[in-house]
Formats: sequence, C-alpha cells, structure tokens
Amino acid sequence: MKQPNDQTELRDFPWVVVRFRCHYCRRSGDARLASLAWRYGAHATLAQLLALFREPCPWRHGNPTRKPQKYGMKCGAYCPDIGRTSPPDWPPPMMGLSLIEGGKTDMLPAEPAPIERRRRVGGDDV
Ligand SMILES: [Zn+2]
Repeated sequence: MKQPNDQTELRDFPWVVVRFRCHYCRRSGDARLASLAWRYGAHATLAQLLALFREPCPWRHGNPTRKPQKYGMKCGAYCPDIGRTSPPDWPPPMMGLSLIEGGKTDMLPAEPAPIERRRRVGGDDV
C-alpha cells in the first residue's frame, strides 16, 4: 500500500477517516473520507485540507488579530496519518504480531538468587 503524503488526493487516501490535529491550539478533527470528497472534491489534496483546518487557528500565519512575528509560533496543524502504513482505526489485536526488543534473556528470574553468606576469618572463640 502507498503511504499517504501531503500531496495525496482524497480519492487515493487509503482509510475511511481523515484525522487532523494541531500541536499548539489543541484543536482536532476527524472527518469521513466520503464526506470530505463530497464537499471538497475527490482531487483535493491533504495539504489543501490542512490549509482549511488551519484557517480558524489562532496561531495560523497571517492572523490579523496577532502582530506578525518573524520567529513567533505558527499553527502546528498536521495529519497524523501522513506516512502511516497501517490503518489508524484497527484495534490492536488486528494489527498482528510485531517484533520488540529483547527476549527471554531479558526476563527477570522467577526465584531470587541464593544469598552468598560470608564466613568470619579467625574463628569465633576469641
Ligand atoms: Zn493550530
């Protein structure tokens, strides 16, 4: 499957829901692919939809109520599914098994190791 990128058109987007998030303003939106395509056309790209999502953001570039700042915060709108290869809405058991670091040698022992007792040197009857 082809990973979606910001130039992916809606008709090529592989999943049912398109998710939008912002790093700063905590806005988020999930939209059904079918309703996005009906409203904006099947050839709309993710980049165009992100621009629309950014529109009401207080941090967006060119907001007239904020003074322009060269190094100020900009809207952090993004699509979490850009670059993803597996559907975002599958429950974990359907994702299949995946390899993780470590293995049996990393496991903790079931019983504590025997305590090593020290002997006193020189005897006890002094
Ligand atoms: Zn934002």
